[in-house]
Amino acid sequence: MHEYAGSIHVHSTYSDGSGTVEEIASAAQKACLDFVMITDHETLHGLFEEKDGWYKNTLVLIDTELNREDHHYLAFNLKEEISARGLTPQELIDRVNQLGGIGFIAHPFEKGAAMILNGKNYPWTSWHVRGFNGIEIWNYTSQCRDGAANLFKLYWSAFFKGNANVNRPDPKALKKWDQLLSDSQRVLAIGGTDAHAIKVKRGPFRFVLFPYQFLFNTINTHLLSPLEFTGKKEVDQNIVYSALQAGHFFTANNKVYPPRGFSFTAENQNEQVIQGDSIKNNKNTVLAVKSPTARSLIRIIKDGKVVSESSSNRLCFKVLGKGSFRVEVYYRPHLRRMRPWIYSNPIFVE
Ligand SMILES: [Zn+2]
Ligand SMILES: [Zn+2]
Repeated sequence: MHEYAGSIHVHSTYSDGSGTVEEIASAAQKACLDFVMITDHETLHGLFEEKDGWYKNTLVLIDTELNREDHHYLAFNLKEEISARGLTPQELIDRVNQLGGIGFIAHPFEKGAAMILNGKNYPWTSWHVRGFNGIEIWNYTSQCRDGAANLFKLYWSAFFKGNANVNRPDPKALKKWDQLLSDSQRVLAIGGTDAHAIKVKRGPFRFVLFPYQFLFNTINTHLLSPLEFTGKKEVDQNIVYSALQAGHFFTANNKVYPPRGFSFTAENQNEQVIQGDSIKNNKNTVLAVKSPTARSLIRIIKDGKVVSESSSNRLCFKVLGKGSFRVEVYYRPHLRRMRPWIYSNPIFVE
């Protein structure tokens, strides 16, 4: 398996981000990302102007975030623009699917902060919808803003680039994901940076709120594929989109510890699968987790409950029934509190 690390959910000058595609690509190269997925609000102009492709060692993909008011929806692998205006959330999901796109509900429980944009927030409230590929459980920018409850916290977030609210996925989004999985829905989860690199002017002070390169070293997506990048943009973009659609990826906070090498697989005498896949229930089915460090606490979770855990770099678990199993890994530093680190996609035991 090849592992490709990248950042999903990024805004450029094609909408409300401050960086051009070239500047974003350069920041991604410096952060050693294999790919970056730019998702400007309701536009694919960057794609039409052929700004996608290889920039040195980083593959740039141009995608979009639909809707400007509520119900933000990240849509990948579209070749034509969609006007979300007048569409219900379900119609929007269906339209993305009709065009062969891959869709994720963005920052579903965003709260906003009274001191920023007058408390404006963009949550997702229609949960009767079907057909979306997944939800965004971790969003760096949105969760930082949610955590900026007072002036002190706001400036702390801006200057120290973060707050406690972003050190873990949004608990409400995680809970919703577990509910959907318990309901036998095939729902994946992504983590995004929602990078805008907003330029702020306050009197004599000028600074960039969460620069691209900083964010590209935070919440990352690690895709797994049997295929190696070829250097041809269409072929390599398809490798990224196929892995995204299949759920062959995990989300990790790179600031905690390098997550490369994490694996979550299942096997029995007939099949061997990875995260995102389904496997037939069978008395010999075993889940196996491998973490890149022994300073891990590995948890296997089903229906929101921990069914097995291990304080080492490995965990094996014999499955005793159907259900969706996902993995969380916490990093255990010496003498300090454990830190949320890796979130896998589920393996669906059917
Ligand atoms: Zn959004
Ligand atoms: Zn966004």
